[in-house]
Amino acid sequence: MVYSLYMEKKLLQKAERTHHLTREDIISLLKLSEPSALFQAADKVRREFVGDGVYLRALIEFSNYCKNNCLYCGIRAGNARVQRYRLTPTEIVETAKKAVGYGYKTVVLQSGEDLWFDTDKLCDIIRQIKKLDVAITLSIGEKTREEYAAYHQAGADRYLLRIETTDKSLYEKLDPSMSWDNRVRCLHDLKELGYEVGSGSLVGLPGQTLESLADDLLFFQKLPVDMAGIGPFIPHPQTPLSNEKPDGHFELALKMMAVMRLLLPDINIPATTAMETLHPQGRLLALQAGANVVMPNTTDTEYRPLYALYPGKICLGDSAEKCRGCVERKINSIGRHVSSGKGFHGDYKKGK
Ligand code: SAH
Repeated sequence: MVYSLYMEKKLLQKAERTHHLTREDIISLLKLSEPSALFQAADKVRREFVGDGVYLRALIEFSNYCKNNCLYCGIRAGNARVQRYRLTPTEIVETAKKAVGYGYKTVVLQSGEDLWFDTDKLCDIIRQIKKLDVAITLSIGEKTREEYAAYHQAGADRYLLRIETTDKSLYEKLDPSMSWDNRVRCLHDLKELGYEVGSGSLVGLPGQTLESLADDLLFFQKLPVDMAGIGPFIPHPQTPLSNEKPDGHFELALKMMAVMRLLLPDINIPATTAMETLHPQGRLLALQAGANVVMPNTTDTEYRPLYALYPGKICLGDSAEKCRGCVERKINSIGRHVSSGKGFHGDYKKGK
C-alpha cells in the first residue's frame, strides 16, 4: 500500500513535469480508487497553463434530425419516438444574436447529421453569425474535406468531432454503417484546413477497456487536439443500449479528463453537461480536476427536451438567460471567473 502510494506520487510528479505518460502509466492512473491526488495535480497544471478563467461557449442545438444510427444516441435515425425539429436559418441566427447579447464570445452550432442543411445554407448561417464578432464552433458530424473547407472560409473557427472511442472494432459495432477511418480522416482534414480541432470520448461504453481509454488519450496527444471533451456514457431508454447502467461512468470520465490535462496542459477542456446529469456538482468537480470551459445551453426551452442524446439532461426548463447567470454564479462560487476573451487555444499564455 505504502509502496503504491509512493509510485502514484512519482507518476504524478513525472506527468506534471514532462506531460508524457506511457500507456501503462495512464492505465494505472485510471484504475485509482482514491483519485484525489490525480485531481489536484490536474488542477495545478490547469492553473499554471490556462489560468483561473473559464471560457463559456453558447451551445445551440439546431436540429435533431440525424441520418446515423449510433447505438448509444437518443436521436439516432432508428428512434421513431423522437419528435424531430429543425430551426430555420433565421431562427439559428436570432438565437446566436441572443447569445451574444448575454455576453458569449463563442457560439457552438450542434446537430445530428441533418442533410437538409447543405453547404450553401450552412455557409450563409456562418457568415451571418460571423458579423456578430464571435468565434464559431461547428459540431455537425462527418463531412467531406470540401465541405469543411467551405465552412472554414465562411468563418467557422473550430470544429468538434469526438472520436467517441479509438477502439475501431467497438466504434464500428456501435456506429453501424460508419467507418472509424473516415472519422479519423475528418479530424486530419479539419486540422490541415486550419480549424481548432476538438475531439473526445464517451466513457463507459459496453465493451470499452481501460487500455482503449488510454489509447484515446494518446490519440488526442498525438493529433494533437486543441480541445477535448470527455463525457460519461448515459444509456438512453429508446436505444439498443437501454439495459446498460451508467455506474462508475462519472468517476472514470473525471479521471480521464484529469489525465488529459496532465498530457495536454494548455488545451481547452470542457466540464461536460453529461457529467452534471450523473452528479449534481458534476461540472464544478470537473472544473476542479482539469476543466476550463463550460458550454451552457442556449437552445430555446421548447426544443431542449427534444435534443435528448441521453436521458436526464439538466436545465431542460430553463431559459438561456437563466443558464448564463446560473453558470457564472457557480463558477464564482469556487473562486474562478468567467473569461472575457474568445478563448482560442494558447490565448492564456499570450496574455489574452
Ligand atoms: N452529430 C454530431 C454531434 C453529436 S452529439 C457528431 O457526430 O459529432 C454530441 C455528442 O454527444 C456525441 O459526440 C456523443 O459523444 C455524445 N452522446 C451521444 N449519445 C450519448 C449518450 N447516450 N450519453 C452521453 N453522451 C452521448
